[in-house]
Amino acid sequence: MTGSNEALFRRAQRVIPGGVNSPVRAFGSVGGTPYFVERGEGPYVWDSEGRRYIDYVQSYGPGILGHAHPAVVEAVAVAAGDGTSFGAPTEAEVILAEMVVDRIAGMESVRFVSSGTEATMSAIRLARGATGRSRIVKFAGCYHGHSDALLAAGGSGVANQGLTGCDGVTAGAVADTVVAPYNVVPDLDDTVAAVIVEPVAANMGLVAPAPGFLEGLRSACDAAGALLIFDEVITGFRLSRGGAADHLGVTPDLWCFGKVIGGGLPVGAFGGSTDLMSNLAPLGGVYQAGTLSGNPLAMAAGRATLDLLDQDAYDRLTSTSQSLADGLAAGFTGAGLACVMPRLGSLLGVFFGDVEPTDFDEASRLADNGVYPKVFHALLDRGVAWAPGAYEALFPSLAHSEAVVDETISIAAEAAVAVASDLA
Ligand SMILES: *Cc1c(COP(=O)(O)O)cnc(C)c1O
Repeated sequence: MTGSNEALFRRAQRVIPGGVNSPVRAFGSVGGTPYFVERGEGPYVWDSEGRRYIDYVQSYGPGILGHAHPAVVEAVAVAAGDGTSFGAPTEAEVILAEMVVDRIAGMESVRFVSSGTEATMSAIRLARGATGRSRIVKFAGCYHGHSDALLAAGGSGVANQGLTGCDGVTAGAVADTVVAPYNVVPDLDDTVAAVIVEPVAANMGLVAPAPGFLEGLRSACDAAGALLIFDEVITGFRLSRGGAADHLGVTPDLWCFGKVIGGGLPVGAFGGSTDLMSNLAPLGGVYQAGTLSGNPLAMAAGRATLDLLDQDAYDRLTSTSQSLADGLAAGFTGAGLACVMPRLGSLLGVFFGDVEPTDFDEASRLADNGVYPKVFHALLDRGVAWAPGAYEALFPSLAHSEAVVDETISIAAEAAVAVASDLA
């Protein structure tokens, strides 16, 4: 044990803004003191006070195998022994690129970066460079990382902070960003370089695409000569082997990946056709680079992770999400706490209310109704960790066995009773 969470948080706040390196971690929207993680294993994390939690944060998605999977640990250790960064190409990059291109139908060429933010930022630049157009259409409640042009009306951490925009982002930086409501196909004209969308929105809780929405975006983009970008940073390699594009049957021009693709190490990627990607330097005029891009440790972790994600893994993950959704919903509603648990394949969200939201306005109304923070703490007190914010999805992993899911469900039923009597 390394000391109390309180003491660590005080120390952290002295030397790190808000005590955290990413805002949601500070518990601002749920109140209280964050637990400092000492270690994780499979479905669990242990905090600095030795308390164990069943973890549904899983680093907000990368932990699809659970924490410290032996294959990932081994791959990273072996890679580290051979040197951690060279500034020259390595076979590890070629292997992971081949694996990704093999899995994503329609994607021929991919470039690795070190975060989802870099992936979307670079894809936008590429789309603008390739089309010679300026405007970008994004959807309210979709989060695409924290680059200036994409911070407008973001979900996830931006929404959790109660922010609609961001100080320091100039009017000029977002002048070419158009924000549209999710699940409505916007009108596009010939100033639009690209439409960027989370094919399943997973940063405003979970909001599935309405029937025809993604197909409508595809044809609107084709008609306007704009590129369609799927931000698959959450859906990629989680929803299915081929991601949301494959699962939902709509093919974008550009894909963005992050989270699962790095198996817990910093990896992002963006890709598309060979033709489109050849606009990037050194072949073309769109500059994009990175000292640590394609880092050997990160490539090794990504490879070890993707290697284990076969059809059986996705089937198991989907049935885990299904059992969780059924069991949790029964527990909450049984206690008199209205709850909807939107699920698409293995993707799972939770809202406390009666009707499943279809866009950011509806999602915010439920996310901000005050129930989530109470449920969050009732669960945390009993050893189950959800994300400290109502705008996040749940991330069960392959390490969440039936027994762990059952334990979660019975803990949640108890927590629900406590919350319901607190609210009464
Ligand atoms: C997390 C996320 C990002 C940003 O990725 P980072 O690695 O945090 O920069 C972008 N898009 C989506 C859909 C995400 O969920």
